[in-house]
Amino acid sequence: MAYSYEAPVSQSLFDRASVVTPGGVNSPVRAFRAVGGTPRFMVSGTGPYLTDADGREYVDLVCSWGPMILGHSHPEVIAAVQEAVSRGTSFGTPGEGEVALAEEIVARIEPVEQVRLVSSGTEATMSAIRLARGFTGRAKVVKFAGCYHGHVDALLAAAGSGVATFGLPDTPGVTGATAGDTVVLPYNDLDAVRAAFAAHPGEIACVITEASPGNMGVVPPADGFNAGLKELCAANGALYISDEVMTGFRTSKAGWYGVDGVRPDLMTFGKVMGGGFPAAAFGGRGDVMAHLAPAGPVYQAGTLSGNPVATAAGLAQLRLLDDAAYAKIDAVSAELRSLVGDALSKEGVAHTVSAASNMFSVFFTDQPVRDYEDAKKQDVFRFTAFFHSMLEQGVYLPPSAFESWFVSTAHDEQAIERIAAALPAAARAASEATA
Ligand code: PLP
Repeated sequence: MAYSYEAPVSQSLFDRASVVTPGGVNSPVRAFRAVGGTPRFMVSGTGPYLTDADGREYVDLVCSWGPMILGHSHPEVIAAVQEAVSRGTSFGTPGEGEVALAEEIVARIEPVEQVRLVSSGTEATMSAIRLARGFTGRAKVVKFAGCYHGHVDALLAAAGSGVATFGLPDTPGVTGATAGDTVVLPYNDLDAVRAAFAAHPGEIACVITEASPGNMGVVPPADGFNAGLKELCAANGALYISDEVMTGFRTSKAGWYGVDGVRPDLMTFGKVMGGGFPAAAFGGRGDVMAHLAPAGPVYQAGTLSGNPVATAAGLAQLRLLDDAAYAKIDAVSAELRSLVGDALSKEGVAHTVSAASNMFSVFFTDQPVRDYEDAKKQDVFRFTAFFHSMLEQGVYLPPSAFESWFVSTAHDEQAIERIAAALPAAARAASEATA
């Protein structure tokens, strides 16, 4: 596909990057491979806007894949970071900032009695399943197709279908032995979970699920699905791990737990709680967390865990996220959802706007999307055309049809008007696109 607009500075940076970095990026989705074209190299962000290396401004609907829930360069977050940096950047000792951040998490999320800070969501889920295995003395992990939990070896096994299928590694480098302890099931299918427990009695350490998935596009849990998982885990001596790296502190003050109230044994967090810095966490039941070193035998550690700058940013951001902030984000999300839906309907484009609280994405199909197989049936080529039209008009969407869109408290009327103005042409492009 040829694009009528250019980004010469970004292109030259991408060319340079491609020499020294595999694929030119440090995280694959940034390379625009799913949509084609030149990835935009951003140089600054303010409020709801990003500016790229060619000097073009975009309304940002990615928000760094979730963390920037107050918009970019929020003055109070920046001030907290500057204050922390002025005292030093890392001590390798305990510090008060990490205690305060842990207290804030424990205060907000009732099932979390204790929490351990780490530096990425991947580390959080990796550590949580190690802890679950150490606590239960069992090896197997159940996950769902289409749920992403970071690039943990055992959790990259997403292939395989049907009941209790052993996972096959999705990527070279993950051994069959590692993937063999992962049972991959279709999302939103409690019967499959029941059958997996029956097929592997006494072997399943934990079921890990995105609290409300955002990594196959937004596919909320069906009524009773999370509660059913919790019940099946409890009945079979396994731990229920709710991955709230994406939903945590975003879908409500207490994340998705604040929406459905299902009490996990362990939870994982990242993104919003780091305020744009590498900070993440896992936590939950006190008796389980007590198995973690140095309190218990399950080893886990990190040179930069609880980093003072990252914790200052995260704490500042969380403290600003009060009821009014969530009401604002919910309202922005609702307005955008209806604008996008109306624009696509007007052009006769088959679509489903799928939302989980204020997270949402657009599937280019009018069929219900309950799992990854459904999500894959959409007309991805229509998303591609839609994406490029929006980009050309200064709206930065996730460069993939299988991602959540994210909004922030900084998305004001002016930003929404810019999006609204871009939608008719983008909807037309989607309608005219051919496979
Ligand atoms: N879990 C979920 C639900 C995620 O969405 C992600 C990242 O997108 C991760 C885990 C991994 O987090 P990180 O990219 O910080 O390693």
